[in-house]
Amino acid sequence: MHLIPTPEEVITLLKQTGALRHGHFEYPNGLHGNEYLQVALAMRYYQHAKTLSVGLSRLLRANPEIRAIIPELSIVTPATGGLPVAYGVCEALSAHQVYWAEQDDRGTLRFRQYLEQLPGEKVLLVDDILRTGKKLSDLKDLVEASGAEVVGLAVIVYQPTPKTPDFSPLLFYYLAKLDAVYYRDAAHCDLCKRGEPLEKVWI
Ligand SMILES: [Zn+2]
Repeated sequence: MHLIPTPEEVITLLKQTGALRHGHFEYPNGLHGNEYLQVALAMRYYQHAKTLSVGLSRLLRANPEIRAIIPELSIVTPATGGLPVAYGVCEALSAHQVYWAEQDDRGTLRFRQYLEQLPGEKVLLVDDILRTGKKLSDLKDLVEASGAEVVGLAVIVYQPTPKTPDFSPLLFYYLAKLDAVYYRDAAHCDLCKRGEPLEKVWI
C-alpha cells in the first residue's frame, strides 16, 4: 500500500471488509441505487482505519494553507461514523483537538455542553463519507454560527447523489470517489424493473 492509498486500493479494501456492497438498495430518502457503502465495516480493523486516516492526513498536509494552521486546527465530525477518521487524522497531523456533534431528540445537531468554538477557531470538518452532504452541511452551519472558520472538508469516500450540495470554494479532500447509479424512486428504477431483490438500508 502506498503512503497515500490509491482510489483502487481504497475500493479493494472496502470490498474486502464488506464495507462496499453491490446489489439493489433503497435509501431512507427514497432513492434506489446499485451500491451501498458502510465505511464503519472497514474501520473496525484498526490497521485499515490507520491506513485510511493517515492517507487522508497526507493529502491535507500537502496543502500549504492547511499545513500552516495545523497546530491550531480543530478536527470536527458530525457523527460517530467520523470518529475513527477524526482521531486518525488528528494524530497523524498532530492537530490541536478533536470533537464531534450529535443529534438531539429532534434530529438537530449540537455539541456536548460547554463545548464551544472560539471566535476565529480554524475547523476542519471530517467524516467517513460524503453522500447527501446533509450532516456536513448542518455541521458547517453550526460551527460557523459560533464564529469559527471552516477551512476545509475531508472524507474517506465521496459518493455523491443527485442531491449532494457543492461545498466549493471550501477545500475538499477524499481518498476515493464512487459513482453509484441512483434512481429517484422505485417507479424510475431499472433494478426494480428487472425484479432484482431489494434491500432497505438505514443510512
Ligand atoms: Zn429499485
